[in-house]
Amino acid sequence: MENLMEKLVSLCKRRGFIYPGSEIYGGLRGTWDYGPLGAELKFNIKEEWWKTMVKDRDDVFGISAAIIMSPKVWEASGHTQSFADPLVECKLCHQRLRADQKEQIEEHEKQHSKDKEKVEWTEPKRFNLLVEAKLGVVEGEKNITYLRGEITQGVHVNFKNILNSTRAKIPFGIAQIGKAFRNEITPGNFTYRSIEFEQMELQYYVRPDEKESMKQYDFWKKVRMDWYKNLGIKKENLRFREHTKDELAHYARAAWDIEYKTPFNWKECEGIHHRGDWDLSRHQQYSGQDMSYFDVDPPAGGKEKFIPWVIETSGGVDRAALFFLIDAYHEEKDRVILKLHPKLAPHKVAVFPLLANKPKLVKKAQEIYADLKKEFSVAWDDRGNIGKRYFSQDEIGTPYCITIDFNTLENDDVTVRDRDTMKQNRIKIKELKNYIQKQING
Ligand code: ATP
Repeated sequence: MENLMEKLVSLCKRRGFIYPGSEIYGGLRGTWDYGPLGAELKFNIKEEWWKTMVKDRDDVFGISAAIIMSPKVWEASGHTQSFADPLVECKLCHQRLRADQKEQIEEHEKQHSKDKEKVEWTEPKRFNLLVEAKLGVVEGEKNITYLRGEITQGVHVNFKNILNSTRAKIPFGIAQIGKAFRNEITPGNFTYRSIEFEQMELQYYVRPDEKESMKQYDFWKKVRMDWYKNLGIKKENLRFREHTKDELAHYARAAWDIEYKTPFNWKECEGIHHRGDWDLSRHQQYSGQDMSYFDVDPPAGGKEKFIPWVIETSGGVDRAALFFLIDAYHEEKDRVILKLHPKLAPHKVAVFPLLANKPKLVKKAQEIYADLKKEFSVAWDDRGNIGKRYFSQDEIGTPYCITIDFNTLENDDVTVRDRDTMKQNRIKIKELKNYIQKQING
């Protein structure tokens, strides 16, 4: 397992999934560039997320907020407060605690000692996790702003806009996918902890009611766990973990992480948090704007005005991509396979003419390739022998390979070879699109 990460990092670079950021200049720690296959994988993850969380639902609205926001947002969210308090960071799990909170520090050490791990702390420092950006053209008069440290706040500051521009009625959610930036002290484990990454989040607004909000909380916990399982992550590699007391944000009413069993231990993949009325109340306080919801049809009758509570699901696109890749990596005697779910695979199909030097075969194969490309992401390969081409597609997770041979010219059918079982089926060309579509959608 240890060298699985080494093999994966090397495969990712060699085949064009993920490259080190700014590599020709010696790299920039904690940054990564996605190549042609990695960009497709990430795009597919985001598309699947958007489908489950926004498109398939009537009660969730998708937005795309600005990365740079008023610095006041970060005062309200409490992010800039942490610059003031010296913090220590646990070198094992990177959690930061206030250096003066001895009880929480002891509790944290106790938690790790259960797993026979000994905590080492960094020196107390004033951390500024937010990446600063200066706006303005005149030197000396520039205003300090920040690149957002989480995409969450872009949603909450638009709560009223969504209410006023849609027909949203509580309970409802606002979803977003986008980049976030953090000055991580110790980036590492490939893309797991980066300084620039993408998040996919839902903020779901509910009535301020204990029972109702916990029902929604449990519902979203299940939706999120099922999402990973339905996209092929093995059940035994996923678990829920409840936040310990010292991890729990002071405003959080409940917090569980979905964790994935990586070669470098169980690691957070996504957090499901019950944030109470923290965000909207703080924005109300700091902006002076009314952030309440006017309920004209509450269960008890009459009319009610309240600050809604928030259930948040907060996942990372890059982390999901990494965990999907780790989980998909398989070695067999003479091949490496990425058993990615067909919905996530960068290419759904590869098309091969049996022989590259037979114009009739190549022409037919090109026709099929062009036709399939209208619907799917398709690879073309006419190099070497068929065995090598299969090997090459297995390694990047292409679920189906289609070979055009001499029988194709006679019978209008092709060989479709399955990545995982290596079984080959003869399929009529006119049925090909339907066949592949069916296989992908299971
Ligand atoms: P961690 O404890 O690992 O630092 P966190 O608890 O600070 O994570 P959240 O603030 O809850 O993370 O962010 C939500 C999600 O965003 C995480 O579950 C993860 O998928 C992703 N994420 C957070 N920080 C990073 C990072 N530095 N690199 C890549 N993804 C990240």
